[in-house]
Amino acid sequence: MQSGQHRVVKLRDMVGEIKETLGHQAAARGPHKRTILTPGNPDDLYPVPSAQKFVDEDAEYLHAPDLQEIGEAIIDKMGGFGYLAGLNLVFLWKDKGGKSHGKATLGRCQKPKGLLAKFCAADFIIVLSADNHRLFNATRYQVEACVFHELCHTDLDNSEDIPEPRLVPHDYEGFCREVELYGAWRPDLEKAAKAFEQLKLGV
Ligand SMILES: [Zn+2]
Repeated sequence: MQSGQHRVVKLRDMVGEIKETLGHQAAARGPHKRTILTPGNPDDLYPVPSAQKFVDEDAEYLHAPDLQEIGEAIIDKMGGFGYLAGLNLVFLWKDKGGKSHGKATLGRCQKPKGLLAKFCAADFIIVLSADNHRLFNATRYQVEACVFHELCHTDLDNSEDIPEPRLVPHDYEGFCREVELYGAWRPDLEKAAKAFEQLKLGV
């Protein structure tokens, strides 16, 4: 029988994936008004499945109807996700998210391919790390934001006769230090700067 670790490594080989990581600080809270699309107080701690729950279920991954509800509310109400209608999205909690480049992994958006795709009907698999969300004391607002972020990685390639689900990378990536010293020197950073400006204005 394969060890859990072995299974994880092999799974990684079989899927395209984009990981979300966070440093040592939980997400900063700006003046942006916090509302959420599902019931509950945005500032309440999110009821992330406990470590014991994974032990009890003897599972590394748990189906996440709660995250699915959030995802469906986002798709339904936020706009821009119409292409996901008719696609099969699977939402899961993962016991241990681990780290990537020294930062805790919060979530991943995967498009099954290879052997996994053969045995899996999902077009996209969205996985949130239970341990790291507990570690950062994630609120309902932050979990919804994380699900939204993962949904932003989904896309449908319409260039072929049969549209094909695909993953898309982040709008921007960079270092705070480079922005401090050089400003928004690339088009993707300019785009990010505009978004942060709106945040500052509370738009
Ligand atoms: Zn991402």
